[in-house]
Amino acid sequence: MYDVIIIGGGPAGYTAALYSARARLKTLLVEKMFSGGQMATTDFMENYPGFDEPVGGVELALKMENQARKFGAEILYDEVINVDMDGNVKSIKTTSNTYECNALILCMGASPKTLGLDKEDKFRGLGVSYCSVCDAAFYKDKKVAVVGGGNSAADDALYLTKYAEKVFLIHRRNNLRCVKLAQEELFKNDKIEFVLNSQVVEILGERKLEGIRVKNNSTNEASTLDIDGLFIAIGLVPNNELVKGKLELSKDGYIITDSNMKTSMEGVFAAGDICEKPLRQVITAASDGAVAAYSAEKYVNQYTL
Ligand SMILES: Cc1cc2nc3c(=O)[nH]c(=O)nc-3n(C[C@H](O)[C@H](O)[C@H](O)COP(=O)(O)OP(=O)(O)OC[C@H]3O[C@@H](n4cnc5c(N)ncnc54)[C@H](O)[C@@H]3O)c2cc1C
Repeated sequence: MYDVIIIGGGPAGYTAALYSARARLKTLLVEKMFSGGQMATTDFMENYPGFDEPVGGVELALKMENQARKFGAEILYDEVINVDMDGNVKSIKTTSNTYECNALILCMGASPKTLGLDKEDKFRGLGVSYCSVCDAAFYKDKKVAVVGGGNSAADDALYLTKYAEKVFLIHRRNNLRCVKLAQEELFKNDKIEFVLNSQVVEILGERKLEGIRVKNNSTNEASTLDIDGLFIAIGLVPNNELVKGKLELSKDGYIITDSNMKTSMEGVFAAGDICEKPLRQVITAASDGAVAAYSAEKYVNQYTL
């Protein structure tokens, strides 16, 4: 029996684990993939305080994991497939076991949105990617396109220029949404060609992606872009499958919490990108994780002290 179980090993989860273990609570964190969540798919971060030189996402993730372990948090690599949040004792079921706890902290984060095109899923890993840091090296001296106009799309496009011969940046509006600093970097990079006011309408190829059809939204004319890789960076969807129908969610499916990171269910807290919030970043995920663990500590202590 644990005092606190945390689902998800991104920055929210590891910070919650650090604070919970340091508060001398018996703490288990369960992660289904790899340390760091989305943060580990980031090449370099320039906006996490305390690092005056850019820090690698994987490097920061491993530091967070080690720091939580150092204070006694147990880390388990397994997928949580069900949660029972009713009553004072909560339980989680993983692919191999069931674990019980007094307080549960949900840090399952978010995943990339898809375009919803035919062949998008079939060609995942065969020319379609949602992670430039993971896959850019496969496109050395090739032509690729990035879809999106926000910060993730800008990061992806810039990162891909380290490998690809040419990077098309396709955005459905005329203006990019990413921060000005990123826009300046994009505009001065001569490997990047902008395809604005346009959207991808078809993925071409038989066994793998060989090109895309792109429609101009003003003229409605479609043209073919011969590319080898399509990187999709159009936003996020919350990983809420475990709690859908069980907790109060926003209309977009994010968990609603109060300022103490309490959810609609007693003893269940949430932190990070899975929460309804204005800014989804590593610093805000870490901050949520700290607050969630502090609230969980107060909740657990009312039974045990
Ligand atoms: C390409 C990219 C670049 C970014 N760049 C920056 C940046 O420069 N600066 C910045 O501050 N932020 C950046 N971000 C955003 C930042 O990475 C996220 O805001 C942050 O990682 C959110 O942390 P989290 O812990 O809430 O969730 P996540 O990082 O999404 O982690 C959630 C974890 O939960 C796990 N999980 C989900 N379901 C289960 C389950 N059922 N069982 C077990 N485990 C589960 C997932 O595998 C994942 O590891 C970037 C994001 C991306 C995608």
